Amino acid sequence: MNRMPHERAVYIETVGCQMNVLDSELVIAALKKQGYTLTDDPHAAGVILFNTCSVREHAEEKTYSALGRVAPIKRDHPETVIGVIGCMAQKDQDHIRTRAPYVDMIVGTGQLSKIPSLVDEVRRTNLPQLAVSLGRTDGGRTEIEASFESYDPARDPEMRPTPFQAFVRIQIGCDKFCTYCVVPSTRGPEQSRHPDHILAEVRTLADQGCLEVTLLGQTVNSYVYDHGDGRRTRISDLIARIHDVPSIRRIKFVTNFPKDMSNDLLDAVRDLPKAVKYLHVPVQSGCDTILKRMKRLYTVAEYREVLARIRERIPGVAVSSDFIVGFCGETEESFQKSMVLVDESKFKNSFIFKYSERPGTSAAGRFPDDVPDDVKRRRNHDLLEVQDAYSLIDHRQWIGKSVEVLVEGPSRKGHKQTPNGPGGRQLIGRTMTDHIAVFQGQDRLIGQIVTVDVIDAHGFTLYGEVRINQLAGLPTGSAITPELPIRPRRIGLDLL
Ligand code: SAM
Ligand code: SF4
Repeated sequence: MNRMPHERAVYIETVGCQMNVLDSELVIAALKKQGYTLTDDPHAAGVILFNTCSVREHAEEKTYSALGRVAPIKRDHPETVIGVIGCMAQKDQDHIRTRAPYVDMIVGTGQLSKIPSLVDEVRRTNLPQLAVSLGRTDGGRTEIEASFESYDPARDPEMRPTPFQAFVRIQIGCDKFCTYCVVPSTRGPEQSRHPDHILAEVRTLADQGCLEVTLLGQTVNSYVYDHGDGRRTRISDLIARIHDVPSIRRIKFVTNFPKDMSNDLLDAVRDLPKAVKYLHVPVQSGCDTILKRMKRLYTVAEYREVLARIRERIPGVAVSSDFIVGFCGETEESFQKSMVLVDESKFKNSFIFKYSERPGTSAAGRFPDDVPDDVKRRRNHDLLEVQDAYSLIDHRQWIGKSVEVLVEGPSRKGHKQTPNGPGGRQLIGRTMTDHIAVFQGQDRLIGQIVTVDVIDAHGFTLYGEVRINQLAGLPTGSAITPELPIRPRRIGLDLL
C-alpha cells in the first residue's frame, strides 16, 4: 500500500499488561487534545507508536518484528515519526537504536506526558528524541521517584476495551525486586497516588458512562497513602470511598502480593456489594527453595494460609494465580511441588509462564538459566493440564445457577453455539467472580448488567440464557450502545 500518511493521524500497538493498555489510552487522549485522530492503518499514520513490554524476551521480539514491518513506511515516508514507548524504551535505549536505527523517539514509562511535545521536536529538528527516567541506582530515592511521574490526565473512552469499563492506576512502580523481574527497573519505585486524585478520576469516568473500574498496581494490595499528618489511606479505605460513587457498579483490583493480603481488605471485598469477588494472587512456585531464590518473601505454607484466610473470609470468592516454570535451579522435584499446589488450590485459572531470563535482573546475574527450553515447555504443558482440569470443575459448578453479567459486547471468538438463541447475536461479559459468560442477546444489552441462567460450561466459559424479561423489558435506548471504536492494536499476547 502506498498511501500518503496524514501528519495528525496516530497509530498505536500495545503489548503487555493492563498498565500498558491504560498508558496507551492516556497517550492517545493527550495526542487527541493536540488535534490528532486515531487510525488503525499504519500506512495512513503520521505518528506510529509501539507501547512495549519487557517482562519476557518473547514480548520484546514481537516489538522488534513489528518495528521491522514499519521500516518500509519510514523508508517511503521519512517524515513519519516512529516512537518506541514504555518498558523497553526505559530499559533498552541503545539496543533499540541498534536494531531499529530509524526510530525517532524513545520514551520511558515515566515520561509519557512528553510525547506530544517530543513529536513536535522530532519534526522541528529532524533529530531523534529520548526521554527516560533515572535508573534505580542513578540517584536518591526522591530524585528517582520524581523522574517517574504518574501519568493520569484526561481519559478517552474511545481507547478503552469498552466505554463502560476502565482501568485506574492507584500505584506506580514496584519495590519487591523479585529476582526474575524487570518491573522495578522499568516502572521505578513504588508510589501510591493520592486518594483524592483517584476519586476525581473515578468520578470523571462515571460521568463518561463507566460502570466498572479496575484499580491497577503491580502489588495493588500494598497501596497505602500516607497523608503526612498521621492519616493513612489503605486500599480497603479507597475501595470504600469509590463504592460511594453512585453510578460505579463494580470495583476490581489487580495484582495482589500474597504477603500483603490484609484482613481489612478481605473484609471490604466481602462486605461491599460492588467489590468483585475475585482475587488474582500470583504464587509463582510451589517450592520453598525456588520461592526463596525468586525472593518472593513468603513460603508455600504461608501462601496456603493466605489462600485459606481469603476463602474463609470471602465465601464464594474466585482466586487465580501466576506460575513461572523452569526458573533457575528448578529440579523435577521442585516442579512437582508446583503441580501439587495447583492440584490442591482450586484456582479459577492460572497464568503459566516459562522463565525468561531478563538481562539486568538479579537472577540473570546470580543464577544460570539452566532448565532447557523443551523441559520448560513440558512443565508449562503439564501444569496447565492440571489447572485446566480444575478450571472445568470450577466452571461446571455454575451450571443451574444464575449469575449477574456485565455485558461487554459481541463475542469475537465464535464460541460454541449458544443454546436456544432468542435472536440477536452471541454476547460476552463477566460475572461478579470474573467468570466469562456467553449468551445470545440483542445489542442493546451491551453495557448492562443482566441476569444469565447458566446451562453449560467449558473450562474458560459459562454458557447461558439471559432472563427473558431483560430481553424484552428494556426500554429502547436505555442501554449504552457504543459505537464500536477503532481498537488499539495489541500484538497477540495474554494480558498479564
Ligand atoms: N506484579 C505482579 C506480581 O507480582 O504478581 C505481576 C507482574 S508481572 C508483569 C506478571 C507475571 O509475569 C508475574 O506474575 C510472573 O508470573 C511473570 N513474569 C515476570 N517476570 C518473568 C520472567 N522473567 N519470566 C517469565 N515470567 C515472568
Ligand atoms: Fe515483578 Fe515481583 Fe514487583 Fe510483581 S512484585 S512486579 S513480579 S518485582
